[in-house]
Amino acid sequence: MYCKNCGKEIKDDAKYCPYCGTESSHNMSDVINGEVVKNPNDVKKSNKSGSYDGISIAAFVCALCGIGILGIIFGAIGINNTKDNAKKGQGFAIAGLIIGICVTAVEVIKFWIW
Ligand SMILES: [Zn+2]
Repeated sequence: MYCKNCGKEIKDDAKYCPYCGTESSHNMSDVINGEVVKNPNDVKKSNKSGSYDGISIAAFVCALCGIGILGIIFGAIGINNTKDNAKKGQGFAIAGLIIGICVTAVEVIKFWIW
């Protein structure tokens, strides 16, 4: 067979090209197959164990602190972020949005009562 990198003829059972040190095509294809098999799992794992969306958590924290409008805004952004990027924290975004609406509603009611 021939080396993929430098094109020189090398032994079929050679692990590495003796001319340039590149792994032989047999092993290269094994590596490629291994990557194809491994990568989808890694991607799924990285999505599952992905970092929490900061804006979603900010929505939750802002809403809990009584800043309802920020809870709504960050919550809406966080829901979009967690949908598109498969990030964790959609629960926080939704909670922030709901609590934000409640806090804002309470503020509005207070405003009308007073
Ligand atoms: Zn070579």
